[in-house]
Amino acid sequence: MSSKLFFRACFAVIVNRKGVKLLIVKPFAPSSLTLGLQALVRRLPPSHSQYITYQQELKNKEAGDFAEQYILKELQKLPQLSDCHLFHNVILPTILPMQMDILIITASGIIILEIKNIRGTVHFKNNPRQLIRTTDNGEVQAFTHPEIQLEQYIQAMHHFLNEHHMAVPIYGAIVFPFNNVAIHREGEGLPIVMGRELPIYLHKIIEKNMGIATNEITNIILSQLQHRNPFPLCRYYQLDVNALQRGVYCENCGHFGMEKLKRTWFCRRCQHQCTSAHRQALKDYYMLVGDTITNKECRAFLMLECKHVTKRLLQKTFQTCCKSGKLTKYDLSSLLETPLKF
Ligand SMILES: [Zn+2]
Repeated sequence: MSSKLFFRACFAVIVNRKGVKLLIVKPFAPSSLTLGLQALVRRLPPSHSQYITYQQELKNKEAGDFAEQYILKELQKLPQLSDCHLFHNVILPTILPMQMDILIITASGIIILEIKNIRGTVHFKNNPRQLIRTTDNGEVQAFTHPEIQLEQYIQAMHHFLNEHHMAVPIYGAIVFPFNNVAIHREGEGLPIVMGRELPIYLHKIIEKNMGIATNEITNIILSQLQHRNPFPLCRYYQLDVNALQRGVYCENCGHFGMEKLKRTWFCRRCQHQCTSAHRQALKDYYMLVGDTITNKECRAFLMLECKHVTKRLLQKTFQTCCKSGKLTKYDLSSLLETPLKF
């Protein structure tokens, strides 16, 4: 996994009808793997031996993102969260690996929410700790026990704050947003909370108000935030780049091979025109193949013939990262650096 720090903070203060002032420090954004898998499934022919596997993985990732976005939206409505700070998808440099779904900084302490969107019947098993899911058609699957993840995040967070000379209570809960799951649990453990129960769970913590300096904690977290992505996915999944469909994708009809006209891209199949269609194709290239591209590679991937047209197109948008005659490479990483939107 490559790790790059190109996060741009995007603050938004949400004031709802009840006068709740919630600071959204890091808003929802789909995970990098979801975006990468969308590109992969788009560009891999359905006849490919791994197509179904990636399609299923994408479905799981999208279900996870949907659940996290749903909970974030619900949190914005809660009067209990007035003056709290909210983060989505937090990675910090800590002794243990961590990727927290939702982090809430409150005057009573820090709350970590691990969101699970799993349908069917789930058993939280001890010895060894595993999460076993049985679907309606009897299919059995084993998952990492969410409590193990959450305990790890709580420990890592304590260690992280200690290093910054802070000690505050840290709470954690496993949240199932929807009532599409029947949960069975062996023994005690960290709280498992249904989406509807979340306001009560949060209220019990927040009402303790210990006067913790939320701004100070938020600033430390912001200064240390990391962004991790698994790109390029062809390397991550050890896939042959030649298996990918080439060409510029028509967002209107799904056809690969839009043609470059003087000022726009044109789809011969549905007559759709788009001036910036190449950007999505190059984004796909960045997520699937590599973070730099040469003129020749670009012509092959976008199915362009003229190297001068390709040069103009690349120079208009990208910085060059190394230049040696014909091997000028353009840096595509700016494609994913657009400010996060809520
Ligand atoms: Zn089309």
